[in-house]
Amino acid sequence: MLEVIQVTKNYRSGRGRLKALDQVSFTAAPGQALAVSGRSGSGKTTLLHCIAGLETPDEGQIVCHGKNILRLSESVRQQFLRTDIGIVFQFGNLLSYLTVDDNIAFPLRLGGWSREAVHQRVDVLLQRIGLSHAGRALPHELSGGELQRVAVARAIAQRPRLVLADEPTASLDTATSAELIALLMAFSREENTILLMSTHDPAVMAAADRIVSLADGRVDAITSGDR
Ligand code: ADP
Ligand code: MG
Repeated sequence: MLEVIQVTKNYRSGRGRLKALDQVSFTAAPGQALAVSGRSGSGKTTLLHCIAGLETPDEGQIVCHGKNILRLSESVRQQFLRTDIGIVFQFGNLLSYLTVDDNIAFPLRLGGWSREAVHQRVDVLLQRIGLSHAGRALPHELSGGELQRVAVARAIAQRPRLVLADEPTASLDTATSAELIALLMAFSREENTILLMSTHDPAVMAAADRIVSLADGRVDAITSGDR
């Protein structure tokens, strides 16, 4: 279960103070896929980063699987974020100097998986994303859709219970987007994860169980998707 409770985040910049998130609240249960929609600048990335522990909210609580992630000690929090939350960033963020294999293996090695276990898991994932032949390739040799598939494989490699995807289809064409959404949905259904995707893509919203609409950092509406 993910509970986001009255989360507020302010940024201070040259233009003064900006409320990027204003009392945002919603919940998500295991196996559910949520879309966070809203125009550019509405706070989607800030929300995902707060949940991922990459930003700290000014107010509010984030409870993930019974743990209040803002109240954990720094070392416990880091461990929790590394193993229980997977992130697909808007622009892939693969490590450019590592092969596809090594990019997917990276979080597993950090997580202390054995050599053999890493090898097996990477093989299975490469097959699942249709890139068994490309394990030795470097990111710059892949297409946009392939890069995002690798980013998904890396995010879910450790079987995190929460997967965050920031506009995962923003740089893809319609057909490639549909494949990526299908892949994310299949993984989250199999592993019973919570999937939270920020998007302005109608196809992503249609695939979601629920849509949390943000406007100027506030929750405008929470509606059912078509799934
Ligand atoms: P979205 O992902 O929906 O486009 P963001 O969460 O990126 O929106 O941004 C929400 C608001 O917060 C925007 O007005 C943006 O300019 C501002 N913002 C985001 N990150 C920062 C930052 N690091 N410093 C100052 N302002 C920021
Ligand atoms: Mg964004």
